[in-house]
Amino acid sequence: MPACKICGKRIEVAKTGVRSYICRICGRVVCRDDYNLTRRVCVKCYKGKAR
Ligand SMILES: [Zn+2]
Ligand SMILES: [Zn+2]
Repeated sequence: MPACKICGKRIEVAKTGVRSYICRICGRVVCRDDYNLTRRVCVKCYKGKAR
């Protein structure tokens, strides 16, 4: 089971509708909460770019 590289939370991909997200910039596997679906990047990269 993958774990989020930002918050460390387990991503329960076995659950319906739950999947892991991969940042297109850094390639980190992150959970839904730490992923920006619009930009397709993790929040770390998103905040870095937005600044
Ligand atoms: Zn997370
Ligand atoms: Zn990233």
